[in-house]
Amino acid sequence: YQLPKFTREEVLEMDRKYNVHSWSAQNALKNIIPVEKSEGIYFWDYNGKRYADMCSQLVNMNLGHGNQQIIDAIKQQAEDLCFIAPGQAVGIRAALAKKIIEHAPEGMTRVFFTNGGADSNENAIKMARQASGKQKVLSMYRSYHGATITAGNVSGDSRRFAAEIGGSAPGVVHFFGPFPYREEIEFESEEALTEFYLKMLRKQIIAEGHNNIAAIILETVIGANGVILPPKGYLAGIRALCDEYDIFMICDEVMAGFGRTGTWFAVDNWNVSPDMITFAKGVNSGYVQLGGVIMNEKVASHFDDNALQCGLTYQGHPLACASAYASIEYFEQNNVLDNVQKVGKVLGECLEELAKKHACVGEVRYIGLFSAIDLVKNKETKEPIAEYAIDTTGNQKKVVAKCKELGFYTYGRDNCIQICPPLIITEEELREQMKVLDEVLTWADNEFCK
Ligand code: PLP
Repeated sequence: YQLPKFTREEVLEMDRKYNVHSWSAQNALKNIIPVEKSEGIYFWDYNGKRYADMCSQLVNMNLGHGNQQIIDAIKQQAEDLCFIAPGQAVGIRAALAKKIIEHAPEGMTRVFFTNGGADSNENAIKMARQASGKQKVLSMYRSYHGATITAGNVSGDSRRFAAEIGGSAPGVVHFFGPFPYREEIEFESEEALTEFYLKMLRKQIIAEGHNNIAAIILETVIGANGVILPPKGYLAGIRALCDEYDIFMICDEVMAGFGRTGTWFAVDNWNVSPDMITFAKGVNSGYVQLGGVIMNEKVASHFDDNALQCGLTYQGHPLACASAYASIEYFEQNNVLDNVQKVGKVLGECLEELAKKHACVGEVRYIGLFSAIDLVKNKETKEPIAEYAIDTTGNQKKVVAKCKELGFYTYGRDNCIQICPPLIITEEELREQMKVLDEVLTWADNEFCK
């Protein structure tokens, strides 16, 4: 059997006619890239134009494009066993769970596999509700947890509005978390900021009735909404509040997990062990869709004698598990985490230089190879180039388009753009792309900061 080959024109014509694309008005999709091939940190269109993938697609291709080890694993698994229902035991699924647990924070013991990020969060919330018998879930504004109804509702950015049509999902309560660059008042120290937000959260827990709250869900590092890092002590403070009020702590590491921040899991940077970690994306760079919930014994043991009311036909798909197993072995064998720390340091230095040089850079935020640039019209006032959640200027899209024109592929939200290259990027490759970014920011200075 041989798959057909298509010309550029055939791809575009069929795509326009038969595909519906996410998060877009279809008629606005004028500049879709017909992608012909990809390798490492690059992909090419049908005209041979090369793009450096500086956001790892949707911050999911942690090992980049065309990783032969992952491809081999998928082929081998396909020859052995493509699919078997989740009720059966499969070697590769069991071995993958064991491997994930070996790298997970202390205290985490078992894995429930899903197909992706949103359903990981859906299932983690369902488990917390089943195991606690409580309904409410507290989640943070500015976070993103997925596009399905509950994951969409617990999300804290404007993408949740469509999930709220017909009424919000029951029991979802939002709270504001810290965002040091854009606080309404000035705090004398990072510790004071943390203390304020933890005090406010405690008040909210009490006001909502702590006996009604099943879980607090948060992104360990807020990703798509501009790489916002938790201030010192914040995650440990949430852990303590959860312990005090018997609430499950769920850390969404769909974007931040599997090496993105330079450690296996982002919580490792702050030595916190939540009750559940949800993952997807970087677990296998999306070669086959996979996600999951890692849990501690407090959660897992509840389901030893109580039926877990969760299930998906394709969860823990053998092809996906094989690709994830090979991916994790690749991390181990090639010291990928060391590369993230080494090249991540260079990324931080380059970003700080850009922040000094360019009028349009309000702040750069980074950890490992996870970073964003907060673009402003004025450094003093911090006025963003595009208003959070209610922008009508399309200014950020203009920056992204300029990047794309110069072969630097990324995306953004509101006034921020992401710089999150594959974790295998070399220092030379990074420096080359940062020069391109420098050029884009010079253009943006003239465009927005007159
Ligand atoms: N959680 C986080 C932190 C994410 O960044 C995303 C996707 O960007 C999701 C959940 C949803 O994952 P998926 O698109 O695989 O459903």
